[in-house]
Amino acid sequence: MKTYAYWNDHRSMPPPAYAEKPAFVDVAIIGAGFTGLSTALALARGGRSVAVIDAGEPGSGCSSRNGGMIGPSMHKLGLRGLTAKYGDKRAKDILAEGLRAIDFFRSFLATETIECDLQMSGRFRGAMSDKDFRVLTAEVEDLKKIPGFKADVVPYSEQHQEVGSDLYRGGVVYHQDGGLNPAKLVDALCRKVADSGGLIISNTPVQGWNREKDGYEVRTASGSLRAKEIVVATNGYTPYAFRKFRRRIIPIRSAIAVTEELDTDLIERLSPRRRMHGDTRRLVVYYRRTPDGKRLLLGSRTQGPLDQYDQIAAAIRKTYTRIYPELEPVPFSHCWAGTVAYTFDHAPHTGTLDGIHYAMGYCGSGVVRSVYLGTRLAGKMLGRADSQTAFDELPFTAPFYYWGYPLGLNWLMKWHALRDRMI
Ligand SMILES: Cc1cc2nc3c(=O)[nH]c(=O)nc-3n(C[C@H](O)[C@H](O)[C@H](O)COP(=O)(O)OP(=O)(O)OC[C@H]3O[C@@H](n4cnc5c(N)ncnc54)[C@H](O)[C@@H]3O)c2cc1C
Repeated sequence: MKTYAYWNDHRSMPPPAYAEKPAFVDVAIIGAGFTGLSTALALARGGRSVAVIDAGEPGSGCSSRNGGMIGPSMHKLGLRGLTAKYGDKRAKDILAEGLRAIDFFRSFLATETIECDLQMSGRFRGAMSDKDFRVLTAEVEDLKKIPGFKADVVPYSEQHQEVGSDLYRGGVVYHQDGGLNPAKLVDALCRKVADSGGLIISNTPVQGWNREKDGYEVRTASGSLRAKEIVVATNGYTPYAFRKFRRRIIPIRSAIAVTEELDTDLIERLSPRRRMHGDTRRLVVYYRRTPDGKRLLLGSRTQGPLDQYDQIAAAIRKTYTRIYPELEPVPFSHCWAGTVAYTFDHAPHTGTLDGIHYAMGYCGSGVVRSVYLGTRLAGKMLGRADSQTAFDELPFTAPFYYWGYPLGLNWLMKWHALRDRMI
């Protein structure tokens, strides 16, 4: 079993050449995932000199190791929860922002002619119980009040058209979702940043920054550079040294295994419409066919160390044989893990904190949001009027009891896992 992301075996382009550290740039961007790269692209095209600095290789955080599932990612609280918190108008605006994000993302891929195995095949979310089915159905009726939102309820009697499993009690299909190969998107963004004059500096962890008269000194293990402005784009990999940001992010582990190629009849039965899949469990599961349609990619939240791959693979197998008993004897070709960034209000955040720009906290749904918010953040820095988003005004809070150490998280995950097993 390979212990790196399946996507790395399916990159179409050689990695771009990486730059030396310059003495000065207009904007230093810390983190070369989707957020940092899309911010850099828009800033470089807007005439700013930029350096995107990453502790590892570009995309080596979440961006090239995710499930590649995309969609509007409607807020977890739904229309009712958001309305109770923010009022009707703002709630609808936050949900509509998800639709604007996916529309932006699709047209970005099209106008930039980025080839990343995009398949807009929709997403099926299975209900774990009759009660969950009623809740899902009510939620969809609510969400249909947002203009442009498209979803259909699937009764139990028709669910085999969506998923070859008897576990669910019906579900919902979301039509604006799809899948892609995220590593191909990372490669394309790197190339475009480099072509636009942006510098990508890899394997250079940023240790911190000092405020100076006309900007900042950005400190790295191999010396400093100066920048007028800084963007923090470190998301779930935000180090303790960036304390203000780290206190606002809960890093949660997520892991994926990919099966060996499956028999054609079997995979056609398990995922007949090549949908993205998920269900209503507390501990998120997400699964899909690989872009060639031959394997299943199986993801779930994970507990314990991220490098214990046999343990992680065994836990994934256990989760998925509940959905698909046929997978019990099927070997995995790949297994890997990463860290997603949750926030205390379940929403992504972008703005400026103590003079430092940021976009982060995508709560496990960051492929679309990071490219969208990264581009919008650059637009705001360039003074463009059309760059506001509904997420801008949401307070990015750090509760007094949380100092960036997710103590007790493992116990919380175990508790959710136990509750899931009881359904
Ligand atoms: C297993 C898994 C599955 C996922 N599946 C999906 C999915 O199917 N759909 C979806 O929408 N989202 C998914 N996500 C989430 C999604 O991948 C992320 O939200 C998104 O990639 C975030 O991009 P980013 O650029 O903000 O962060 P990242 O890609 O994580 O980039 C942050 C970068 O910051 C760098 N960094 C950290 N500290 C420093 C430092 N001190 N100096 C320099 N660089 C530093 C890191 O090396 C890293 O490269 C998944 C995530 C994981 C882990």
